Amino acid sequence: SARLARAESLIALTPDFPQPGILFRDIGPMLTDADALAAVTQALAAPFEGGFDLVAGVEARGFLLAGTVAATTRTGLLPIRKAGKTPRPSASVDYALEYGIATIEAAGDLTGRRVLLVDDVLATGGTLRAAVSLVEQLGGTVAGVAVVLELTELGGRAAVPSTHAVFAT
Ligand code: 5GP
Repeated sequence: SARLARAESLIALTPDFPQPGILFRDIGPMLTDADALAAVTQALAAPFEGGFDLVAGVEARGFLLAGTVAATTRTGLLPIRKAGKTPRPSASVDYALEYGIATIEAAGDLTGRRVLLVDDVLATGGTLRAAVSLVEQLGGTVAGVAVVLELTELGGRAAVPSTHAVFAT
């Protein structure tokens, strides 16, 4: 749609961030535009509408989109945090980064919950794959995975095969 095409044009290409040689996709300008944010929020949820009752996003940009999707679909919100921020995590997953490892954590019992996982960008897929594992450790069922932008050339889809991408490179 024209609304989505306009939203896509508001993702800024930022060379050499956070490191030299990286072309960073900055969703900041898309978030500050009311119509773009509404259109992208709707597009993230649309394929899964009615099939989930909780939306999870990984700190920090995933929180934002999980929040807008949860509010517009009247579902719950689960923030998945980086290590050390959750008082009594009930599950914890380590995953590989380009250099070193990271850990994500969450608390609670997701037995019987159908969870939509959202993030801004699908790059290598390591983060979303870890989030899938975390939701399952908490007893939840992953109803879907949705991202604003898939960086196709990085092959992250292999890690989270059924991901719905609103935009792809
Ligand atoms: P992964 O490699 O695990 O798929 O991505 C790691 C994390 O970094 C994800 O949360 C993803 O959203 C973020 N990320 C990777 N590349 C980019 C990028 O170019 N732009 C933005 N906004 N986030 C990115």
